[in-house]
Amino acid sequence: MPELPEVETVKEVLKQHLVHKTIESIDVFYPGILEDPMDEFLKNILNKTIIDIKRYGKYLIFELNKGYLLSHLRMEGKYYYLENSFMEDKHIHVVFHFKDNSTLYYKDVRKFGRMKYIDKNIYDELPLSKLGPDLILNENIDLDDIYHKIHRSNKAIKQLLLDQEILAGLGNIYVDEVLFSARINPKKKGYRITKKNLKDILIESRRILTLAISHKGTTIKSYTSSLGVEGEYQAFLQVHTKNICPNCKMTLNRVKIDRRMTYYCKNCQR
Ligand SMILES: [Zn+2]
Repeated sequence: MPELPEVETVKEVLKQHLVHKTIESIDVFYPGILEDPMDEFLKNILNKTIIDIKRYGKYLIFELNKGYLLSHLRMEGKYYYLENSFMEDKHIHVVFHFKDNSTLYYKDVRKFGRMKYIDKNIYDELPLSKLGPDLILNENIDLDDIYHKIHRSNKAIKQLLLDQEILAGLGNIYVDEVLFSARINPKKKGYRITKKNLKDILIESRRILTLAISHKGTTIKSYTSSLGVEGEYQAFLQVHTKNICPNCKMTLNRVKIDRRMTYYCKNCQR
């Protein structure tokens, strides 16, 4: 699943191509991608101009001259931008045709991705209003506030860090990397996490996500950038998908936490 660095990379590339373009027509081949009734979605999006593209957590936000198009790629959603040519694929579900003849294709093999039009201030509306602070965009995250949310839980810290309502942006890959760098066992319960642990988690999250963004994300099975950009952060992964701890050389543990495959070193992470 694309996480914060991958969505940030997609956003940057889309921004280079799409800002100032006006949507002339839209083809929707699989309406299940839309959270709005199709006729309403079309009416709201047609003839709108994209004035900016932003990201919050794992959401892409297309700012239009009126309203916003919110897009979540979920497991395998991908955008393809073509200047003058045409592509056909049974997994393409939505196509945006712009007035200058360029086209944006949305492809999603598993059809989990979602799009939605929002008329009002997007940060005050669901789903963004429910999200926790973005680990990159929000520079002054309230440590005490996050600590209280984590401290009253008996869920594993890995599961809590995947919860976008606590902190927005981490997914399965980067949580493993962050907890390894912070030397915290992913199974450690929320109420046992200290303020020092949490501080380390926030520091390591920012460091790792920033580094991953600079390498345009991680290219693994569920995410390959479709916009001519290859993520290279996989070369920097310490534990996720690995066998040996790079620190103590012991065999890494592999367990499922909240149905997600988790890699950690029980010797280094306490
Ligand atoms: Zn180790």
